[in-house]
Amino acid sequence: MSDRVQNETSADRLLNALGNVYLRLPESAYARHTPQPVEQPQLIYFNRALAQELKLNLDLSNDEQLAHIFAGTHLPQHAQPIALAYAGHQFGYFNPHMGDGRALLLGTVEDQNGHLRDLQFKGSGPTPYSRRGDGLAALGPVLRETIVSEAMQALGIATTRTLAAIATHQPVYREKKLPGAVLTRVARSHIRIGTFEYCAARGDQALLRAYLDLAIERHDPDLIGMANPALAFLKRVIARQASLIAQWMQIGFIHGVMNTDNMTVSGETIDYGPCAFIDHFSHDKCFSSIDEMGRYAYGNQPKIGLWNLTRLAQALLSEIDPDQDKAIELARAALEEFQPLYTHEWLKAMRAKLGLYTREETDQALIKDCLDQFEAHKLDFTLTFRDLSEAAQSQKISAAYLPMQDWFDQWQARLTRQPQSRDEASALMRSVNPRFIPRTHRIEEAIEAAITTDDYSLFHTLMRVLAKPYEEQPLMAAYAEPPRDDERVLVTFCGT
Ligand code: AMP
Ligand code: MG
Repeated sequence: MSDRVQNETSADRLLNALGNVYLRLPESAYARHTPQPVEQPQLIYFNRALAQELKLNLDLSNDEQLAHIFAGTHLPQHAQPIALAYAGHQFGYFNPHMGDGRALLLGTVEDQNGHLRDLQFKGSGPTPYSRRGDGLAALGPVLRETIVSEAMQALGIATTRTLAAIATHQPVYREKKLPGAVLTRVARSHIRIGTFEYCAARGDQALLRAYLDLAIERHDPDLIGMANPALAFLKRVIARQASLIAQWMQIGFIHGVMNTDNMTVSGETIDYGPCAFIDHFSHDKCFSSIDEMGRYAYGNQPKIGLWNLTRLAQALLSEIDPDQDKAIELARAALEEFQPLYTHEWLKAMRAKLGLYTREETDQALIKDCLDQFEAHKLDFTLTFRDLSEAAQSQKISAAYLPMQDWFDQWQARLTRQPQSRDEASALMRSVNPRFIPRTHRIEEAIEAAITTDDYSLFHTLMRVLAKPYEEQPLMAAYAEPPRDDERVLVTFCGT
């Protein structure tokens, strides 16, 4: 058997159950395309646990074969890869012509739980939607997405996953020449708010309806056959995004580029570009180099979430009711549910962060005061909550937090007003306040070592530490530390 046939066989074996449900959509939804071959792919990362979850047939694949498959060079013979078309509001401005310019959807597989999941290559060469881009990804952003997406998963936040990261050993030209890479992203779907905006902007009713059916089938099958499924679906997306953004806020995550093409209807976090975790707490915190006005700052995320959902509602109007006034009325009522849903989720999460099992009227003020103290004293969001988790038990305030003694006393008094013990409060807090988050300076350090000396040890160490964010891992304490002043990364980049 020739090498080529053998390799094709390994791809066929690995991905024997690959399908592609997007192919049932009208053809204006996508363009058929194949990845650009990579001659010397190197497997940097392969997520075996996820591969098992996806029921991939791993038995006979070695690293070299995996590298060729996930660089997009050796595909199963029955694969029908496509680039999806979509539109989106970027920083508030509508762009009708977007789409997978740097990505290619390999297909869909059914996972262990019977859910369909998308497999998508990022950085596998230009597509018909690349416009002036090269369709490639640099190694740095690929490692960053790998680290942060898998850290989000371990933190318990809905997210797209990383199945594989492959170094291509081909150059990618940005401000300078950089090493290239391909990432395989796994998602509950790649149906975005911008997907529906694309259908609506084209005035393509058949496409809009087909996408709505596909989205409902994949994410809300219980809505099939209901009266007004479009409205019911909109409400589900509103609820999922409210819950997701509340989780981001609770963990100090700043997405950084909440354009409508980067918001899924599945409620998964997608597109890890200039994202960052907050260190010194501030509502206005914003790291992204391209977000000059702070549109996507930490404290703006809920507001922007609602703005984005309003774009979804607008795109779905014709499906909600043929009478536009009536459709607008129904959509507006649905959108009004966002704020109370968000506040409910946020309060629930913040109560848990402070070890509170019961509810009191004044909790919201106590939480607000807590965050104001963090901001006034430039405290590290993650470490302070983690340290408070211990203080719930010890009842002692450590020297670093002395400036917030008054607040601390109020919180301690509040803990005594619930029936749960201090041990229980502390246990709850430790389960939601991580010790380890993907800190930007650590990510950059790992990327730097990989790029300059081909050393992936820091990357792998970081992946290991971040897989257990709520455990103490005393030997890894250094990874919990915020950056020193000279290590602080003030600006993050998309890197596209
Ligand atoms: P993103 O910033 O990842 O949300 O991408 C925004 C849009 O730009 C999407 O339509 C991408 O497909 C496209 N894009 C980003 N980087 C590239 C690239 N290197 N080549 C082609 N298209 C790209
Ligand atoms: Mg995007």
